[in-house]
Amino acid sequence: MNILLTGGMGYIGSHTATLLLNMGHQLHIYDNLCNSNIDTLDRIKKITSKEVGFTQGDIRDTKKLTEVLINEKIDAVIHLAGLKAVGESTQKPIEYYANNVQGSISLIQAMQAANIRTLVFSSSATVYGDPIYLPYDEEHPTSPTNPYGRNKLQIEEMLLDLANSDNTWSIARLRYFNPVGAHESGLIGEDPNGIPNNLMPVIGQVVDGRLPMLNIFGDDYDTPDGTGKRDYIHVMDLAEGHLAALTWLKGNLGCHTFNLGSGNSVSVLELLHCFENISGNKIPYQVVARRPGDLPEYYAKADKAAKILGWQTKRNLTDICNSSWLWFQNSKNKKST
Ligand code: NAD
Ligand code: UDP
Repeated sequence: MNILLTGGMGYIGSHTATLLLNMGHQLHIYDNLCNSNIDTLDRIKKITSKEVGFTQGDIRDTKKLTEVLINEKIDAVIHLAGLKAVGESTQKPIEYYANNVQGSISLIQAMQAANIRTLVFSSSATVYGDPIYLPYDEEHPTSPTNPYGRNKLQIEEMLLDLANSDNTWSIARLRYFNPVGAHESGLIGEDPNGIPNNLMPVIGQVVDGRLPMLNIFGDDYDTPDGTGKRDYIHVMDLAEGHLAALTWLKGNLGCHTFNLGSGNSVSVLELLHCFENISGNKIPYQVVARRPGDLPEYYAKADKAAKILGWQTKRNLTDICNSSWLWFQNSKNKKST
């Protein structure tokens, strides 16, 4: 298949790119590099020994996007481009709506113009909001608690309206849980610009000395060790989820929703101790106040993806920590050369 990957230079996109190329697909990445680096393209090529097309552009540039879709003879789109920092979305909501919602409208218009009707969209477990029950299944009510989550839900709803209005579309809305880990080569991983928000990149910055210690946001939750619990999913498992969805969509019309998670939750301290054991590093930490808006625990019911897509996670917490540790060491070497 000829696939367009929006946001393909980012964390999840670059890992997905390596998998799709290794599975023999042709790939074109469309990214404005607002949260990624052009070097990633060479690393994707190095990992796969394959050519990959790239256009630097904004998804809101409908004309440019349409030209790429037509010129590259694209069959299907995986749409990952977007701004993703929950905290920032509360500070700059209009920027988030413009980039994420308006950007997705632009992409759909470009796809309509280019007559492409297969789309995989990266949504998030954030759309569920406060759990009424756990694990979240796909039928759990949606009630996101921040602008980022509302962006994702609005895009999801728009895609459902689109599929209801035009039965030629095949759409998968993938609700990711907590992507972590890195490619087994250690050549690509997550390295966000500025001060990270998410747990594993913070640990990475403590390891390389950019941050003095990890702040654990609360140890008084109603969980066995008091720290928050999340459903961490290895980024290469997530990449495989995209491939499974894309393959399944080939024979299925309509708009479909899938949780992509492991079905288990792990606490901050459990993840930290696993990382310390694997890396041999002691990670200094202090317990601070709860982060506003954090939930004590959430995790996925991932049965639907297993049953329909034939997909489930294969990698465990040890694999996650091993690959992260390899990536942190490689990126540290890179920064010091
Ligand atoms: P990322 O920031 O590493 O990658 C996103 C990429 O999109 C970046 O390369 C960025 O330059 C590009 N981009 C952003 N706005 C763009 C625009 N207007 N035009 C073109 N390119 C643009 O983020 P990621 O972690 O790889 O996330 C990918 C997708 O998955 C996002 O949509 C995110 O909301 C979603 N998601 C991520 C997580 C997570 O924890 N990482 C969880 C759930 C969902
Ligand atoms: N967390 C933490 N310190 C940090 C970052 C995160 O204690 O510097 C905790 C956070 O409170 C949550 C878990 O780690 O319990 C995962 O947080 P992350 O931001 O990675 O994911 P999200 O909360 O968005 O699911």
